[in-house]
Amino acid sequence: MSAEQVYRDLIAWLNKTWWGLPDSPELLPLMRVTYTPAEARLLTGLPFRGVSLSELAAMKQMDPAELWPQMEAMARKGLAFSGQRQGEPFYGLNDSFFVLLRSSFWPGKDDLRTRQMAPKVNRYFRDSFFAQYADAHTKGLRAIPIQRTIADTRQVLPYEDVVQVLEGQDYYSVSHCPCRHRKNMDEDAHTCQHPTEVCLHFGRLGRYLDANGLGRPISKDETLEILALSADSGLMHSVSNWQEGVDTICNCCACCCLFLEGFHVLGHLRAQDPSNYRVSVNPATCKACGLCVERCPMDALSLEPHGQATNKKGLAPELKAELCLGCGVCAHKCPSGSLVLQHRPETIHPPQDARENVKRFFSEKAAAQQKRQAGGVEE
Ligand code: SF4
Ligand code: SF4
Ligand code: SF4
Repeated sequence: MSAEQVYRDLIAWLNKTWWGLPDSPELLPLMRVTYTPAEARLLTGLPFRGVSLSELAAMKQMDPAELWPQMEAMARKGLAFSGQRQGEPFYGLNDSFFVLLRSSFWPGKDDLRTRQMAPKVNRYFRDSFFAQYADAHTKGLRAIPIQRTIADTRQVLPYEDVVQVLEGQDYYSVSHCPCRHRKNMDEDAHTCQHPTEVCLHFGRLGRYLDANGLGRPISKDETLEILALSADSGLMHSVSNWQEGVDTICNCCACCCLFLEGFHVLGHLRAQDPSNYRVSVNPATCKACGLCVERCPMDALSLEPHGQATNKKGLAPELKAELCLGCGVCAHKCPSGSLVLQHRPETIHPPQDARENVKRFFSEKAAAQQKRQAGGVEE
């Protein structure tokens, strides 16, 4: 079988998982640098839900002792999932979103594979891959306010308080932000000045990443320090978009984050799900320094003439309310305390758990596709 056919077979197999691989001139070159031909052969046919080592060895007509180290090596590259079931190793397929946009960049390596992958992923992401995300209104991440930017903290729900999210965890891990590292490894992209080792994972996911060299363990205090450093440097906290079992806090910037790039570059209406807050401005105390305008990751603020402004320029921030994610990045560094987050009129509850998030995501995606096929226009 030709090498090209080996990759085409893997593409067809990966297309059966949640995330498809839309056809594009960028796709085959990207597959070639992401997987070796031997890896592509082994992964084609590997079920997403996992099989035991002995079942996989029978499928591949291989000796389990020969197969085991190859599967473990792929788990350490983030290409396959590895676990234990009834005392035996078992393996599952990692989908294309996970491999291309997460696991390959979490370790923060600067090696040939990473440098070859980064520009190709960046082009493929924009060219066609991310379009499949536009149809779903329920996003994978939700903005969560930076501590002490909320005006009235009495009504804050547990899933909206970044410190409470940490309190409930029994394990903490940090990886490199895959979006930022991917941009930094691409000579055609800008170099981001924000810190990179700020991608936080908890519980079972954190343990798994550390065991496979995709992250490293940290203490709760170190986790809090990373959150503070991220907030100070202008990064937006985003959490897994569900209420129970939150396992991720991203610290995102407008220049690298794939979700914010979806909004700024690809024109998707909603980058991430917003928090239940929105910023509110006191024009009378504003000094018109412009820092909030500069820091907002959504370009939701601009300095405009304001009748109640008392500064010499007569300016105060004006908010495009529909763009505000309620992250508090603007309020966190305002030198005059003129910005606070206020609760929105209505509370939107995120999906209960990861399973419900995925269910909503795919039913919205399917509904939009059906509507398109029927000739309707998706809002
Ligand atoms: S979503 Fe944000 S923090 Fe997460 S990996 Fe991307 S930029 Fe980094
Ligand atoms: S950061 Fe504060 S003081 Fe500066 S422009 Fe914004 S609201 Fe005004
Ligand atoms: S205005 Fe911008 S920085 Fe401020 S809370 Fe809204 S999205 Fe965040």
